[in-house]
Amino acid sequence: MINVIQAIETIMENIPKKRIKELPLIDATGYTLAEDIISSDQLPRFTNSAMDGYAIRSEDTTQSTLTVLRVKGHIYPGDSIENLSLNRGETYEITTGAPIPSGADAVIMLEDVNRHENCIEFKRKIKPGTNIRYQGEDIRKGDYAVHHGMVVTPGIVALLAALGVTTVKVYDMPNVGIITTGSELVSPDQSPQTYQIRDANLWSLCSALRSMGITPVFTYRVSDTKRAIQSILSTLPELPDFVILTGGVSVGSHDYVKEEMEMFGVKQLFWKVAQKPGKPLYVGIKGETMVFALPGNPAAVWVCFYVYISSAIRRYIGRSSYLLPSVNAELDKTVNGIVSRTHFLRANYRDGRIIVLDKQDSHILTSSAIANALIVLEPRETGVYQKGESVPVWLIQ
Ligand code: AMP
Ligand code: MG
Repeated sequence: MINVIQAIETIMENIPKKRIKELPLIDATGYTLAEDIISSDQLPRFTNSAMDGYAIRSEDTTQSTLTVLRVKGHIYPGDSIENLSLNRGETYEITTGAPIPSGADAVIMLEDVNRHENCIEFKRKIKPGTNIRYQGEDIRKGDYAVHHGMVVTPGIVALLAALGVTTVKVYDMPNVGIITTGSELVSPDQSPQTYQIRDANLWSLCSALRSMGITPVFTYRVSDTKRAIQSILSTLPELPDFVILTGGVSVGSHDYVKEEMEMFGVKQLFWKVAQKPGKPLYVGIKGETMVFALPGNPAAVWVCFYVYISSAIRRYIGRSSYLLPSVNAELDKTVNGIVSRTHFLRANYRDGRIIVLDKQDSHILTSSAIANALIVLEPRETGVYQKGESVPVWLIQ
């Protein structure tokens, strides 16, 4: 049986081939860039005023005597300054963002001058460059604007829009299909018989995928028979990038999923991971499709999604950090862990403190409903983790 780290590494080495697509910039938020983009313009595009005030020549000013300047006009953002210039003793009133006319090398703030009709006066030395935003000080032509691997954020959209980049190459989202198996399952919107249960996994996986911006390309629920599993697989027009199954992957006599995957031509990467919950996890590949068969217990599905599937998807969409973010926090109680497997505990993390949730068995749904973190207890000889020990905590996002 492999351990959690080996399982993650094996998955990462076998991620299906990424697809690159070109998107309008406006639709690319949240995608990972599949290209570097070099600036073909400069920002600011022209030297302009950082303040509402007066464009001046700094050499006209002194600390000791009153400077009096004649106001030649008002330059607003959007005005051309092609034919404007400033000579000794002159000034232009100027508004934030308006271009600086030739001859001027500073802007004095509106609040710092006295205006009399078409003159201003003030007594202070103004240094060259005061309140001026220089052309190209943000980014120059030929500089890297963004790099491959960056996630498109509103800040990146603003930068690229300002540079006139209107389409970007990004890594496409994966196609994902889900099949839940179990003869006891009915849809949550049906009335179960006394011996049936509602299929929580299908909807929880749809929800988890949706939180990553993915709508499954198919969802099926099948009973625990070889034929049911086979008939679904045979009707699929094409295989998506990832197939997620739940249930029927353990050693029970009706657990056919693993066998049926192999019959279908899926090559096993591993089966069983030294972890709790989720020990019977099976992962395989067929062509460019990765198959995750998770045990049916809802807590195992929840843990396996966040530890393996969401990481695989982040890797697929080009994220450089594909594991959940991790912090260290002190246990709020002593935990009798397990000896030979990694123990994932559902927990609440807030303001640097971690609370281990009371109910941890793999059929428990209420803990997953309120958990926002996973504590990762590596196997140790005693199996005991003491209250106050610092342990790694993966934050669910
Ligand atoms: P299995 O992995 O098929 O042995 O199932 C383990 C446990 O999970 C059993 O108690 C199942 O009834 C339960 N289970 C399996 N599939 C689901 C599902 N889709 N939703 C909720 N519980 C499930
Ligand atoms: Mg079952």
